[in-house]
Amino acid sequence: MDENNFKDVQDGTKAVWAGEKESLAYNATQVPVVLSVAYNYDDVDEWQEVALGNKPGYTYNRMANPTVQALEEKLRILEGAEEAVGFSSGMAAISSTLYTFLRPGDRVVSVKDTYGGTNKIFTEFLPNLDVDVTLCNTGNHKEIEAEVAKGCKVLYLESPTNPTMKVTDIERLARVGKSVGALVIIDNTFATPINQNPLQLGVDIVVHSATKFLSGHADALGGIVCGSEKLMKKVYHFREINGATMDPWSAYLILRGMKTLKLRVRQQEKSAMEIAKYLQKKKLVDAVYYPGLEAHPHHDIAKKQMRGFGGILSFVLKDEMKAIKILLSKLKYANKAGNLGAVETIYGPARTTSHVECTIEERKALGIPEGLVRISVGIEDTEDLIADLEQAFSYLESNYPVSCS
Ligand code: PLP
Repeated sequence: MDENNFKDVQDGTKAVWAGEKESLAYNATQVPVVLSVAYNYDDVDEWQEVALGNKPGYTYNRMANPTVQALEEKLRILEGAEEAVGFSSGMAAISSTLYTFLRPGDRVVSVKDTYGGTNKIFTEFLPNLDVDVTLCNTGNHKEIEAEVAKGCKVLYLESPTNPTMKVTDIERLARVGKSVGALVIIDNTFATPINQNPLQLGVDIVVHSATKFLSGHADALGGIVCGSEKLMKKVYHFREINGATMDPWSAYLILRGMKTLKLRVRQQEKSAMEIAKYLQKKKLVDAVYYPGLEAHPHHDIAKKQMRGFGGILSFVLKDEMKAIKILLSKLKYANKAGNLGAVETIYGPARTTSHVECTIEERKALGIPEGLVRISVGIEDTEDLIADLEQAFSYLESNYPVSCS
């Protein structure tokens, strides 16, 4: 099925059909999981042509695999990219992309609120390679613009951010990145291609943790990088040699999960909005971070560049860990786990999830309150999720008089 078949259809249809037909075999209606590590060629000349990339085909799974390619194609179409490259995890996708393009002496400008693992790359691994990293305050566009204007090789963004849900004006910052010749990279994990297409806003490279919403079922790790053919050739070359290739079985699970991506995201963000409004009214809650709320400082930017506000929100509880422990222990229809984007609702404090790698001081410096709890809203019925929160808050309020007074 070539790209023309998807020009006139919407994201939900793309999520179901893109990448599927080319990879089918035996008249099956579902993409096969090709686990064979290598591929047989009786004709050595043909083998060499395929190995050299002069002829389509497969030689060895670290280079290419039909199941992984079907997923790459689905993402390519959904992000409106020329090429997509699959990785073994979101962090493999992010680190490999950065290592593909950065060299000693280069400078990166990013924001303080990136995912904790990404933040560690910026604060620990890149400085070890003599790459200079400047992390700006996420909501401060002028500060980011001023740092980029000093010159940089890479401008790295994430929007909305994990877990404080800050939103950056992608088009505005991509423009300033381009003006100094920087490569503009963004993590689109939270928004998903259903709600945001950064390549259309001027970004060069989009990275995803496919482990999250794309998979949707918390049973497969994966990462995807999307961009132009020229850039993705380099990212692909880094992957084929450095080896963080996606596993075909994971690719299949993510491929299957993605067919319901749009349905899931729409249900999740409907509930997220209701939960955010509910939490705003709670006395024990100091702050609620959800870009769909009009009170969110970046609501207007989110409205401009996103088609929906997504299924993640976070809130800050008074009395921090004591209250968090009580509240989380009482929730019945939620996992308390270090993941997000699944069909089940998941609660997690920043200190045990997104920023577990950081010390208290580092979290403080990043502006992440110790009382912050992230909710990844699942596809359960909205009323049931609110009722579950209500019974947990009732317990907390009646058993925790210090906080209630
Ligand atoms: N980017 C974001 C926004 C994330 O939330 C995460 C993980 O939580 C990652 C990247 C890393 O993805 P993975 O766990 O698949 O390596």
